[in-house]
Amino acid sequence: MKIWLPKPSACLPSLKGLALLLAASCAISSQAASDINSKIKQQSLALEQQVIAWRRDIHQHPELGNREFRTAKLVAEHLEKLGIEVQTGVAHTGVVGILRGNQASPVIAIRADMDALPVSEQVDLPFASKVTTLMDGEKVGVMHACGHDNHVAILMGVAELLASMRDQLPGTVKFIFQPAEEGPPPGEQGGAELMVKQGVMSKPTPDAVIGLHVMPFPVGSVYYTKGSAMASQDDFSITVKGKQTHGAMPWGGVDPIVAASQVVLGLQTVPSRQLNITAGPTIVTVGKIAGGVRSNIIPDKVEIVGTVRTLMPDAQEEIHHKIRHTAEHIAAATGAKAEVEFQNGYPVTYNNPELTDKMVAKLQQQLGSDRVKAIPASMGSEDFSYLAQKAPGFFFMLGIVPADQDPVTAAKNHSPYFYADEAALQVGVEALSTLAVDFLKKH
Ligand SMILES: [Zn+2]
Ligand SMILES: [Zn+2]
Repeated sequence: MKIWLPKPSACLPSLKGLALLLAASCAISSQAASDINSKIKQQSLALEQQVIAWRRDIHQHPELGNREFRTAKLVAEHLEKLGIEVQTGVAHTGVVGILRGNQASPVIAIRADMDALPVSEQVDLPFASKVTTLMDGEKVGVMHACGHDNHVAILMGVAELLASMRDQLPGTVKFIFQPAEEGPPPGEQGGAELMVKQGVMSKPTPDAVIGLHVMPFPVGSVYYTKGSAMASQDDFSITVKGKQTHGAMPWGGVDPIVAASQVVLGLQTVPSRQLNITAGPTIVTVGKIAGGVRSNIIPDKVEIVGTVRTLMPDAQEEIHHKIRHTAEHIAAATGAKAEVEFQNGYPVTYNNPELTDKMVAKLQQQLGSDRVKAIPASMGSEDFSYLAQKAPGFFFMLGIVPADQDPVTAAKNHSPYFYADEAALQVGVEALSTLAVDFLKKH
């Protein structure tokens, strides 16, 4: 059965004679909308225990980026059981499901990332991870310390919920289970960028893409930022090359330590003097500087390693140019030479303003206005940004801090003490399902 909803403008009485008729049709349509909204709520509650069980299972069996074999199998088998078209092996271990409703378009994509982190879990849970791996020859634990286990379980629940009402879905839902959000292993490609290269945002092409991330905010609510929501991220390395000489005779060489020191300070003028700060904050951080072996030898080179983050969309190239220009010319002024390289760019995660307004209004209607909160942008980064470059995107945060804990002191993502209150899972299923259904009906 297809539920008909008039366009919102049809609910504004324009002609006196039609006022009664319109009022009646608006009453019917809002009734239909509230029917489906309450159905989503009920079904998300009915699925809650199953979603919790999936999440515990995934939590106990975490897998690092590009190695999500077990998780991908669990997801693929579940989607197949629901009668959803499934593609596996996308960007190594990614799984894409296509749920076709009663018409082909519009298309909405929903993304969940699947990878865990090399962190040894310290939370006392019956389903805590005991998995370990070798990194650089050392044994470390593997843990869903960023909470992606929650994202996978929630999206499996959303798939089940939406599959049960496929006859009422006026469009297509694409489920994107993505590997390696935290970055692929060295020497490999992966994550959303590789999924996009392999065509995840085409055939069928999504008209919007949405996703969520668990964050240490109070459980029960969702949190959003309009426009630039999370920063871009690029790491850089600068090699400052001088000429080795005696520490007592610096004029006999070129001192790369003094040159590198000036480069570090000069880089701070990129955000503070060279970029329009009102267009969005930018941070340049030098996290490592290394050179020299002892007090009386001026070495021949210094390595500088850092990261640059910005909330200015599409400014990465410009910032790279300014960093390169600043480092090269400061080094040159001392007689040294700076070689600058950039790695691992993630774009700005940009929440399309128009889509954000619509989705926030829908979330407020479904969850209640007091459970949908605007927050400032984060200087953290997310590769959901690659998907949101291909279609209007909306990425929001799901609170997971238990009511009796202080979110300020709660363990942050990537901590070995990171803990997610399972009450968040039902909220996530309800929120994503509501947004998907509403988008298909109104787009
Ligand atoms: Zn993370
Ligand atoms: Zn994450």
